[in-house]
Amino acid sequence: MKLSPNSLCPCGSTKKAKRCCGPLLDGQPAPTPEALMRSRYVAYSLGDVAYVQRTTHSHSPHREADLAAWTARLRQFCEETTFVGLRVLSAETVGEQGVVRFWASLHRGPADVSFGEESRFSREGGRWVYLAGRPLPPPKTPTPA
Ligand SMILES: [Zn+2]
Repeated sequence: MKLSPNSLCPCGSTKKAKRCCGPLLDGQPAPTPEALMRSRYVAYSLGDVAYVQRTTHSHSPHREADLAAWTARLRQFCEETTFVGLRVLSAETVGEQGVVRFWASLHRGPADVSFGEESRFSREGGRWVYLAGRPLPPPKTPTPA
């Protein structure tokens, strides 16, 4: 799937894709960990597995040594999942580290497979990349789906 530049960005920012995650998916460095997190959500929703991989830190536990197997697993996840919406709950940057808490509303067929995560980001080669995450409980306020 391709991003429509003039449509609202799938990351939920209420900005047009061309003024939000679009340029990042096209190769521009993310200005903040939150921007990177949003663009990764959009990449997942589009099935842009290569973007997810190149924005994953080289020492991330989520990186798999077998690139073909990792690619296949990510592809399958993207294909099986409907990306309903994203809520960024908080985002902070301290020096070369960033923490973003989010809630992703996802469906797999009829099943609600939404999840929350506290993601950690770091800079590598001058660019923000995803390092690791830990699960978060659902936020107390209802998610806008
Ligand atoms: Zn966006």
